[in-house]
Amino acid sequence: MPTATRTRPVHNARAGWPQLAMIQKQYLAEMNRRYGRLKALITESIVTNDCFLISNKPSVLSTMAAAALPFKFTTNPEKVNAFMEWLRVAQDGEILEVTERVGRRVVAHSQWQNVYVRRSYEKGIVWAQKKLREQGIDVPEEELRAIFNRPIHADSLGLLYTRNFTELRGINEAMDQGISRELIDGLSQGKNPREIARLINKNVDNVGRTRARTLARTEVNRTQNEAALNRYQDYGVEKVEVMVGPGPCPGEVCDAIAGVYKIADARGLLPVHPNCGCALAPVAVQPGKAVPGEPTTLAEAKKWALKHDLAKEVNYGKLSLEAANQLNRSVYAAQQVYPMLRGSMKYMGSMQSHYKYFGIRGKIDPAVRAVAMPRKFLGQSGITLNEKFFTDAILVRTEEALASEALSGWCAKGIGSIEGVINHEIGHLLDGVIGFTKQRGKAMYGLWGKASVANNLSRYGASSTGEMVAEAWAEYIMTDKPRMIAKLIGRGLEKALGVKFK
Ligand SMILES: [Zn+2]
Ligand SMILES: [Zn+2]
Repeated sequence: MPTATRTRPVHNARAGWPQLAMIQKQYLAEMNRRYGRLKALITESIVTNDCFLISNKPSVLSTMAAAALPFKFTTNPEKVNAFMEWLRVAQDGEILEVTERVGRRVVAHSQWQNVYVRRSYEKGIVWAQKKLREQGIDVPEEELRAIFNRPIHADSLGLLYTRNFTELRGINEAMDQGISRELIDGLSQGKNPREIARLINKNVDNVGRTRARTLARTEVNRTQNEAALNRYQDYGVEKVEVMVGPGPCPGEVCDAIAGVYKIADARGLLPVHPNCGCALAPVAVQPGKAVPGEPTTLAEAKKWALKHDLAKEVNYGKLSLEAANQLNRSVYAAQQVYPMLRGSMKYMGSMQSHYKYFGIRGKIDPAVRAVAMPRKFLGQSGITLNEKFFTDAILVRTEEALASEALSGWCAKGIGSIEGVINHEIGHLLDGVIGFTKQRGKAMYGLWGKASVANNLSRYGASSTGEMVAEAWAEYIMTDKPRMIAKLIGRGLEKALGVKFK
């Protein structure tokens, strides 16, 4: 069921994924370089330095890192043990950059991987902010350093650092198992040093380097997504949608996980496979829920509305901030989903502030809470709330009245709120765009009859075809299961507007 704020797809074109290729490439190149260096040391130890004393030639060339002198052991198991011990030291030096160990425990290491993790995390933050802004959420510019210092981000980043290190260590351990097996076989079968070095380095390539490359790719993606989720949480987002990635993703298992998830359920979901390019986009913040970064004064609310081009003239007069923000949110959401409303609004805010647009008809009806003027009237399209009902002083009483009207059936189901009032008015605007009331609305009203509209939609909606359409629209937009009349009118109106839904 389409609604302005919930089930619209948050993206459509296959564009706008986070650009991670460069970081992945650099992280991967660094892995390659390190495993390449390890392989060179292995060859140097076994072939050049003849550490197993197979060729019985004196060692001439050596580097500090290679096993410089032949192992003084004579039995094969001793040689294997000595080599594996050397190999672990070489891995510590060349790959993990461990600087201090106590027994098998790593006490300190250079943390060279952190650079890539941190950069991926930054990408995630910046990308999430872009996505939040696309949803109309104000995300003030903030130093990345300040964001990183907040507990949620600092904790995540710390865990990701650790994860990248322990994964890499795990890869080396898996690689070592294969190498020691290869070594035992090679020595016992009397293979020559060159052959043994080749077999060992094949293990370095197939297990070590290959898995390390996969690690580099997947961790960059994982980190980016984790960062984005944390940033969404900063802004009160509760749900995210999987944007199935470009490249190999659609054909892979990724299509199967497409959909909307609660933030907690989305953690660890991506990447789905090593080359996964899927990303998580925020699903619009719940209607009515205060958004951090949302305007805190009427002046800011006005600025926000103008910045997002909601209307040409914005004036909130004496309206409460809450009403102004709700007007911003609802109109913005509607303009996102129904592009015909974009750029069409002349004025928006309090009725009293936009009195001149009511001038021809005389005066403001004191009993009317809100008015929407479709473009066809006065050539001016706009939406306004009556200050008499929506100032700070009276807001709570108005909300109570709206809620009880919805319960009593005077208003349609689920619309007894400021948001409901505004969506009712947006219904009038959309109706006005195509003259729905005059075409299909009249026929529908005639078919159902006044009594049925009063019983199955709202008594207020039964007062005219236009009000029926506006009431039905609000219920259609705001409830999960709109009743039959609301659904038929809502869908009919959308169809007439040419809005397509997935
Ligand atoms: Zn994917
Ligand atoms: Zn109305």
